[in-house]
Amino acid sequence: MARRTLRVVALWCLAATPAAAQLRVAEVPIGGPAGVDSLARLGFEVADVRRVAGRLYAVIVSEPRGERRLAAVGYAVRALALAPTAAAAAADTYKVFRSFDNPGTGIRATLAAWAAADTLIHVDSIGASGEGRPILAVKIGAAGDAPGRPNVLVLGTHHAREWISTEVAMRLIRWLADSLPPALLAARDIWVVPVENPDGYQYTFTVDRLWRKNRRPNGDGTFGVDPNRNYPTFWGVDDAGSSPVPGTEIYRGPAPASEPETQAMIAFHAAHPPVVAVSYHSYTDLVLYPYGFRPGELAPDQPVFQALAGTDLAPVVPDNLPASIRSAYHPGPGWTLYPTNGEYTEWAYRTHQTIAFTTELTSGCCAPNPSDYYGFAFPDDSALVERVFRDNLPFAVMAIAAAGSLPAAAARVESVWPEVRVSLEAAAPAPASLTVRNASGQLLTRNALADSLWRGRLWFSWRSDVSVDTARAVRVNGAGLAAELITLAGAEDGENGWTGWTRSPEALMGAWSWSATAEDTLTSPVVDLGGRTRVWLQLWNKYRGSVYQPAQRGLVQFSADSGGTWNDVYAVTGDGPAWHPVRVDLPAAAGAHGARVRFVTTGGFGWWVDAVGFASDSTTVFQVLTAAAAVGVSENPVRSDQVVISWPLGATAARVGIYTFTGARLIAATVAPPTNEFVWDLTAGGRRVVNGAYLVVVQVDGRVSRQRLFVTRSGR
Ligand SMILES: [Zn+2]
Repeated sequence: MARRTLRVVALWCLAATPAAAQLRVAEVPIGGPAGVDSLARLGFEVADVRRVAGRLYAVIVSEPRGERRLAAVGYAVRALALAPTAAAAAADTYKVFRSFDNPGTGIRATLAAWAAADTLIHVDSIGASGEGRPILAVKIGAAGDAPGRPNVLVLGTHHAREWISTEVAMRLIRWLADSLPPALLAARDIWVVPVENPDGYQYTFTVDRLWRKNRRPNGDGTFGVDPNRNYPTFWGVDDAGSSPVPGTEIYRGPAPASEPETQAMIAFHAAHPPVVAVSYHSYTDLVLYPYGFRPGELAPDQPVFQALAGTDLAPVVPDNLPASIRSAYHPGPGWTLYPTNGEYTEWAYRTHQTIAFTTELTSGCCAPNPSDYYGFAFPDDSALVERVFRDNLPFAVMAIAAAGSLPAAAARVESVWPEVRVSLEAAAPAPASLTVRNASGQLLTRNALADSLWRGRLWFSWRSDVSVDTARAVRVNGAGLAAELITLAGAEDGENGWTGWTRSPEALMGAWSWSATAEDTLTSPVVDLGGRTRVWLQLWNKYRGSVYQPAQRGLVQFSADSGGTWNDVYAVTGDGPAWHPVRVDLPAAAGAHGARVRFVTTGGFGWWVDAVGFASDSTTVFQVLTAAAAVGVSENPVRSDQVVISWPLGATAARVGIYTFTGARLIAATVAPPTNEFVWDLTAGGRRVVNGAYLVVVQVDGRVSRQRLFVTRSGR
């Protein structure tokens, strides 16, 4: 260990001229995801989490002062050897990677040469960095932009040391000019900014390979603001997603958009607001999208993000590097990695409704031999870089294509209980209210609320103004949309037939949720779906896992034959420590009777599940309620021994049901025309009906009417 440290230091001495303490890669033992959170609160960016000899270690980049800070709070810091490619930094003599300034091979010179030789490549500066370097934007296709053409933006290197993000962006420029179908090229305004942070990037070639931030002098002897924590949206909302401390890796700067690089991006977006953007970083195998500032918060355009980036069950970006820890990039909200604030995609989405992705390029690390660890120092190997580029090219091309017509999605109910959530097209009329039916059949109207967080480019999310304790069905008034829960369970007392997992008091609603921290399977009892067609699964969940540990995974499986055969319907990885709803459509459930669902955990994934139910989309459930004529009763509250229930005469026999408040049926009767009334004798059979609330349900000619009845008889 000591020898390895010396070697790293020696390498840096070759590269370094200033006396500033060099950054190095180090690892610290942590207990789990909570350890990642506390490192973030100390200002460290956790680049990776590795399991070595059964223990979890967070990989960070630090220097002696930061390591002393860690040691002071009890972390044991151990330096890691970096791949020897770092040695070439000072000489700027890589085969693949190139500095910004090198007059022959640098990014600036290369782009100038390409622009001079190719009529489809145009280079402009969108602003200057703190040290006066141009922030270069490359336009591929027509020189000018046209209002009718959607803008698409690709970004590289917010973070100086993430060289492969620039190299992938450079290869994309070349490929777009050489190979993008001309019709698509002519229909978009495509921009690539290969180096968002040129000062930091240049510094990694001349002084410190592991530098992350820009080069702002902070005035206290430290340098640099994290350019991907400096955007104005949610800037500094907490100290876990960014740090107020200047010397730290995730320092957010003295003010929102304090940095000239950020200001250049803001001005560029104002002039050319992208419909879709992809911001390359490295490394981890992720395609992240908003929201990221608060765990569990979902963007209204979640269906659009999912349609483009895929899901954990069907990811769209493969990872074909041999040493990668994943075979595909994990897609998900930003907080599935860890919360961030002042971050680019969130700002672009909130400000310009840009469908913006952060691609964390391949992990490509963690080969069996720990000394092979390269992390940020991606091998200087053109074939390997090309592999990463090719893996990511289809997603980039899809993003360019999608900017012309974003994927459609169906308006739908996302959750019925305990919070009603609905997604509607943003252009659709705003629903003023939601009507819910509770467990006893009562109808309640709630305001439909949408704060600006839930307003997206294509989709709007709406929620009820309060949690509805017993909602079992919901209608979105004016939207022709309704859904009802067929079943509902959440580990409460009296719910029989569920097996596996344990009960946790960390409940969403009620007293309990189900939870699993070991490898275990939670299986539902068999449910008769009654042959319904538009069936989906509602569940609320939270989880503690890590994107760095892809074996930590949760899987939902569905069986339409009472558990004979199971199919994967939903998967989840990463960290999501706040309750949020998931809707899983179940086309295989159409017409089924014996339905079951089960939840499978692997790799020590910590998973909590509550409010699980089969649901069905149905607009008729509420249409019949509103269309039906009222049930008439001879008195209400009922004080006599008999009450006469009547209804408008129908063409067919009426079915009359009377239920207790808790849903137990007392009376079931069929009444044929021309009779259209029923006498409920409250003393029939010598039994006395107890005082309280009852529900009368009359079905006639396919329409259903309900009436609450209060029995308040005195005496006897
Ligand atoms: Zn980054």
